[in-house]
Amino acid sequence: MAKLLDKIVVVDIEATCWEGKNPEGMDNDIIEIGVCLLDINTGEITNNRGIFVKPERSVISSFCTQLTTITSEMIEKEGVTFQEALRILKKEYDTQSRAWASYGAYDLKQFQRQCTDLGKGYPFSPSHINVKTLFALKQKLPHELGMDGSLQELGIPLEGTHHRGKDDANNIAKILREILKN
Ligand code: AMP
Ligand code: MG
Repeated sequence: MAKLLDKIVVVDIEATCWEGKNPEGMDNDIIEIGVCLLDINTGEITNNRGIFVKPERSVISSFCTQLTTITSEMIEKEGVTFQEALRILKKEYDTQSRAWASYGAYDLKQFQRQCTDLGKGYPFSPSHINVKTLFALKQKLPHELGMDGSLQELGIPLEGTHHRGKDDANNIAKILREILKN
């Protein structure tokens, strides 16, 4: 498949989580896939959306709702299956042909794990960009920063709600846009 180097797909997921260890028998499930496109030439950020995903192996704890603001009701109402979410990524964001970016290694690992465990095809190309590492390298920082720290370093206000995939993806795209500037 030809690589489309026009736009980078920026992704940030939220998943079911608990304060300590996972409860017996529950696995972390993706519940929101935040995504947008960063245009390499214009720096424009488009197609920003949060795809809600119904968890198949766990439930949303009150701790998880506190962290993410995502409730079971929101997911019941608007959530799609993991399979459908993967289809949307491939079809509407060309994720198999484009480079994709996320903040750190977490999103990549969770996607790999969940696709393997549920027997679904991995929806992304092998070209993953770790914005957390790239930013620290670009700024010659002594250590990597959280997303909020990197935004602060750049003087860019955090837009929307931190720990909501849709807003995190948009903010991460802004950091990547700065990195890619000459
Ligand atoms: P983030 O992109 O930083 O919003 O985090 C992505 C996911 O990581 C969240 O949806 C949680 O599943 C998990 N996570 C992040 N921070 C915490 C935390 N303090 N405790 C437990 N899980 C967390
Ligand atoms: Mg997030």
